[in-house]
Amino acid sequence: MHVNLMSDTQTKPTAAMRAVMATADVGDEQMGTDPTVNRLLERVAALLGKEAALFLPNGTMCNQVAIKAHTRPGDVVVSDIMAHIIRAETGGPAFNSGVMVEAIMCANGIFTPADLDAAVARIQQVPHPYAPIPRMLCVEQTHNFGGGAVWQLDELRAVTDRAREHGLATHMDGARLLNAVVASGVDAATYSACVDTAWIDFTKGLGAPLGAVLAGSREFIAHARTYKHMFGGSLRQAGIVAAGCIHALDHHIERLADDHARARTLAEGLAALPGITVRTTAPATNMVFFRVDGSGLDKATFLGQMGAADVLMGGVGDEIRAVTHLDIDDAAIAYTLDVAAQVVAQAAPAA
Ligand SMILES: *Cc1c(COP(=O)(O)O)cnc(C)c1O
Repeated sequence: MHVNLMSDTQTKPTAAMRAVMATADVGDEQMGTDPTVNRLLERVAALLGKEAALFLPNGTMCNQVAIKAHTRPGDVVVSDIMAHIIRAETGGPAFNSGVMVEAIMCANGIFTPADLDAAVARIQQVPHPYAPIPRMLCVEQTHNFGGGAVWQLDELRAVTDRAREHGLATHMDGARLLNAVVASGVDAATYSACVDTAWIDFTKGLGAPLGAVLAGSREFIAHARTYKHMFGGSLRQAGIVAAGCIHALDHHIERLADDHARARTLAEGLAALPGITVRTTAPATNMVFFRVDGSGLDKATFLGQMGAADVLMGGVGDEIRAVTHLDIDDAAIAYTLDVAAQVVAQAAPAA
């Protein structure tokens, strides 16, 4: 059995998704005349409760375009220390926007208004004109390297309200916002109402091969469109892709709950194995982070032996990350746990 838990990006488009893509109505996205892209933009703007939306090839460009549009060179973006914009966008905020990032230390990506106050105070420890200008807050929902952690609505609202008091623009990296929606029962528009701009990724869990949509005010999106073009994000007959995204909105949201249940089964099963320590046996969404130090194996050896049985997982720092998604069923989880049990049993140092 082939089991790919590397990421929820590893899904293949379903036959039904490919069918709607094959017959999609198309136009010219760059000129704003692709009817299927426009239909997707209306859907996402409504879903996120924003005036307007912009189709982009991926989530990284959503973050980079948003940072560019919210800031000026020399400004400071505040985010948490493990944020995707810091750890996994190749220094894009510095390269594309010339901004600095002030990082809030926290374990799972979720922080408090007091943490934000402290960050702003650090940025402004000396008076004008010496201090740089804090301009933007970026929060991540769910938090990827934070273990798929969910911002609860009151936590998010408290932090973004405080950000506004500090004069910051507010942005949500919502790569997995819909996982948070399914896990919390809070709808996407309610979460997005906390921030000026938000985006969702169609290639994380939703099962589409391409595409992300950034939403905000009409004025912001018009401004952001310039940077979409500048960064190489303008497309032509993108309706083929957008059709897959619309299909995902119609068919792949509620089922995220299955991914969350399977992540929990996986976390509990791994935790029961000797030498494996999971970050939490109750993962909030679809990610399981764990260590194998106690098994006598190092991370690379464990991953290699799992891979030899065709179970793929990824490493993040000292930990291993396994992510459930559309192409992972109950049998895949059972097989993964069987293989992991064998790998650690063979590794167990003789008494
Ligand atoms: C994957 C991811 C991104 C980037 O999205 P891509 O579509 O892969 O470019 C941004 N933020 C978070 C939290 C992510 O998990």
